[in-house]
Amino acid sequence: MKLLQKPKKSLGQNFLIDKNIIRKIIEVANIDKSKTVMEIGAGYGNLTSEIISANPKKIFAIEKDNNLSSFLENKFNNYKNIKIINDDILRVIGKKKLGNNIVVFGNLPYNISTQVLTSLILLKKWPPWYQTLILMFQKEVADRILAHANTKQFNRLAVLSNWRLRIEKHFDISKNCFFPKPKISSTLLSFKPKKNNFNLKNPKHLEDVTRILFSNKRKMINKNFNKLFGMNKSIAKRLNINLRARPEELSNETYYKIATLYEKSLD
Ligand code: SAH
Repeated sequence: MKLLQKPKKSLGQNFLIDKNIIRKIIEVANIDKSKTVMEIGAGYGNLTSEIISANPKKIFAIEKDNNLSSFLENKFNNYKNIKIINDDILRVIGKKKLGNNIVVFGNLPYNISTQVLTSLILLKKWPPWYQTLILMFQKEVADRILAHANTKQFNRLAVLSNWRLRIEKHFDISKNCFFPKPKISSTLLSFKPKKNNFNLKNPKHLEDVTRILFSNKRKMINKNFNKLFGMNKSIAKRLNINLRARPEELSNETYYKIATLYEKSLD
C-alpha cells in the first residue's frame, strides 16, 4: 500500500490491508441499495471501496486527518453517492444529524474507541438514528464489552453497552491484517438498538451511577452506594442489594434499577 504520509499514532492509524477480512466485515452488514452507511475514520478508503461495491444508497465517510480527507475526495471523485466529512467523529455524533436507519462501520481509532461507543449509547433520543453498529475493537476492549456479571472482567462499559444495545461477536482479526501492524489483535462486534425497558430521563444518570459504583472494583459498594443515596438503606433493601458485594457482583438489571431510583431521588 502506498502511503501519503507516516501513519499517525495519535490518530490511531492502523489501516486494514487484508482484502478477505475487509469482505468478511462488509458481509456482516448485508448492505443493499436501501441502506445508508456511515464509516468512522475512512483512512485510505480500503473499507470504503468495498462498501461502495455493495452499492448502498449513500455513504458518509468521516475522516479527521485533513490529508487523508483530501485523498478520499480524490479517490472517490467519480462516485456520486459518497460524502466525505472532514471532521472529528465525536463532534459529528454530538451535532449533525445525517439521516435515519444508518449502518455505522468503523475500524475505530483505538484511542477513542470506547468514547465513540459510549457517545453512541448515551444519545438523548432513543431509538437512535442508527440501525446497526459494526465496530472493530482491540480484542481486550471487545472482551470488556462482552463481559458478564459475576466475573472479574465485568465493568461499566459492559453495563452501559447492554443497557441499550444487543451485542454480537463476529470474529477476531489478526494484527497481520493491518498496516502498521498493531500490538494486539482486534475483534469485530455488531450492535443493534434495543427497545429497552429501563427508560431513563437522562442517560447521564446511568453513566454517573456506574462511574461511582465501579470506582473501586476491589472494595465493597457500601460507601459508594451512600454517595448516591446518602445513608438511605431502604433503597438497597428494596432492590435486594447486598451492600457488602463488589461492583462486579451486581447484575446489569440491578444497575439499571439503581439508575432509575437515583434519577427519581434527584427530583
Ligand atoms: N477505515 C480505515 C482506517 C482505519 S485507521 C481502514 O480500515 O483502513 C483509523 C482512521 O480513523 C484513521 O484514518 C484516522 O485518521 C481516523 N481518525 C482518528 N481519529 C478520528 C476522529 N476523532 N474522527 C474521525 N476520524 C478519526
